[in-house]
Amino acid sequence: VGPTIVAGEILVEIMATEQGLGFLEPLVLMGPYPSGAPAIFIDQAARLGGGAGIVACVGRDDFGTINLQRLRRDGVDVSAVWVSDRYPTGSAFVRYRPDGGRDFVYNIAESAAGQIRLTAEARQLADRAGHLHVMGSTLSVSGLKEIVAYAVKAVRARGGSISFDPNVRKELIDGADGALFSALVDDADLLLPSGDELLAAAGVEDETQAVAALIARGVGEIVLKRGAAGSSRFAADGSRIDCAGFLVEEVDPTGAGDCFGATYLTCRRMGMEPGKALFYANAAGARNVTRRGPMEGIAGFDVLDGFIAGTARAT
Ligand code: ADP
Repeated sequence: VGPTIVAGEILVEIMATEQGLGFLEPLVLMGPYPSGAPAIFIDQAARLGGGAGIVACVGRDDFGTINLQRLRRDGVDVSAVWVSDRYPTGSAFVRYRPDGGRDFVYNIAESAAGQIRLTAEARQLADRAGHLHVMGSTLSVSGLKEIVAYAVKAVRARGGSISFDPNVRKELIDGADGALFSALVDDADLLLPSGDELLAAAGVEDETQAVAALIARGVGEIVLKRGAAGSSRFAADGSRIDCAGFLVEEVDPTGAGDCFGATYLTCRRMGMEPGKALFYANAAGARNVTRRGPMEGIAGFDVLDGFIAGTARAT
């Protein structure tokens, strides 16, 4: 028991309303929208009714306020969000390429989001937590390493569980970061990779081999994200479940993986069986891409049930 917790960046996202390349000329932008992968994840967990808390840092400004208001409204414990008087809330500008790719301009390291620290409030939240979700993409921030190290120990000491989204290129981290990455793979009860990340985490070229290698390292459950194609779940007992994707029109792909992961985890923590949890996770990921704004497609069970009833799936 105890809330699911995450640590990392809270941002606002400002996005282009038309496709194009880069930000080299003025264009029409929309936003600010609440964002940041850890914030998306934890907001989705809270919306499903799971206990949820976040360790983060925002500025004392309107961008911080819209994030805190959203997270509080949805039931996230924000007691460990530090409000900085010196640094502004982090931001991300996004533009969509005609080929489906995205161009980003980030302001994170020199913003409040880059000032995240293991504060007394962060320790208190970690000491109460029942589950820690770690995102690989946040691990290069120095303050986060300390928070993750503390929270892994605290959650384990309470008999809690750990999930890891290895969303970082292993080539981009070396030395101490590489060791931390490997330790987190070994520590994880649940791994939430997408295709390339699965292979990188295992260090092999083939999906079946990668799953076998990671299970042999002690990972209890691997849930693989396959974008529009859906997802698969592999468990230590050798079982495999595949779940086809819902057929939707993708308006904005940002946040799908985090909504998906939070939904799978929260359903499992509520005692739901794996196949049903995977089905809800697919629905949450698919619904999220139908809305502009990384957190605007987040939904509770009532909305997800309506979405499931009204949406066809790939066969
Ligand atoms: P990530 O954002 O981490 O790369 P994915 O893009 O694989 O993750 O999305 C996570 C999940 O969300 C997928 O496994 C799928 O269930 C759902 N999803 C994502 N994009 C789509 C899409 N275009 N159509 C239907 N479902 C989608």
